[in-house]
Amino acid sequence: MTRIDLRSDTVTQPTEGMRLAMAKADVGDDQYGEDPSVNLLQERIAKLLDKEAAIFVPSGTMANQTALKILTCPGDDVIVSEEAHILLHESGASGANSGIQFTVVGADGLFTADDFLEAYKAPGHVVLPPTTLVTIENTHNRGSGVLFPQDEIVSICSAAKAQGIRSLCDGARLFNAATASGQRLSELAAPFDVVTLALSKGLGCPVGSLVVGRAGDMKRAKRVRRMFGGAMRQSGILAAAGLYALDNHLSRLSEDHENAKLIAEKISGLSGVILDFKKIQSNIVIWSLEENMPDAKRIVAQAKEEGVLLNVFGTRRVRAVTHLNVSRKECIQAADILSRILERK
Ligand SMILES: *Cc1c(COP(=O)(O)O)cnc(C)c1O
Repeated sequence: MTRIDLRSDTVTQPTEGMRLAMAKADVGDDQYGEDPSVNLLQERIAKLLDKEAAIFVPSGTMANQTALKILTCPGDDVIVSEEAHILLHESGASGANSGIQFTVVGADGLFTADDFLEAYKAPGHVVLPPTTLVTIENTHNRGSGVLFPQDEIVSICSAAKAQGIRSLCDGARLFNAATASGQRLSELAAPFDVVTLALSKGLGCPVGSLVVGRAGDMKRAKRVRRMFGGAMRQSGILAAAGLYALDNHLSRLSEDHENAKLIAEKISGLSGVILDFKKIQSNIVIWSLEENMPDAKRIVAQAKEEGVLLNVFGTRRVRAVTHLNVSRKECIQAADILSRILERK
């Protein structure tokens, strides 16, 4: 039976080549700084982003939480986009771990330097919480994988710098952003103090994320990683998957983007479906259902019956994500199945 899993780019299975690389990895105790594979991955990632240092952590959530912890103090205000992962998908960790509060700005995952400046709260006020950090998610998951415009990023981060506040990029899908924009990772990362990256999304690794930035910040991040229980030992087994993915999976991300466009194209014209094709710039397709349509739960259940797995992303919102383990042929098949279901009503 058909089973095309478009729930997330996290469902990928490590490939044979990746498993082999993991099995053969040189390892050591990373707490002593002696894991050669971890060290190599950290160095390669830091170099790719043109930053001083990187540290390897188990998950993207831990990467973001570590970054928040080193960049803020309890009671601080953090400016963030609508429906950001750091705001909505980390189980309340930002409040629990760092004691910060958020000011949400902009729309659909994007915002401007003006939005930032309007929300910015200077230190020293007796009533207002001081803004000490601005975070940008690129690509933006709940914004349908949309690219955050780089010129706006540059304006926001320089406005932040002018106010003496720090900037963080949640770049869980920065590899997708680089592929979609044609810009180098280092260009995308340049305006930010700290960038987080995930290996377990489009790159298809089983585990792994990184926090990247200045050496001093990463030294503090290393301690926080320990505090959060994320310090590992012979984690070179995991880092080897990341090294393999950089060599073998990075260059194929454009296929995922083409496949996402293919699905979006097929369903965007259907009546009852609200989908802005312009926003489909990477590997995520989100669409809304008009009032006369069955709700997201119904559509997702019907698709599942026909072997296409999707995610409910709101009462009337559905998400499909393309990745390493779905071929173009399967995406065409999934798009056909979906359009049939959506036309059925
Ligand atoms: C997936 C994701 C993360 C991290 O998620 P983990 O499941 O903790 O690895 C962070 N930010 C964004 C935008 C994501 O999509």
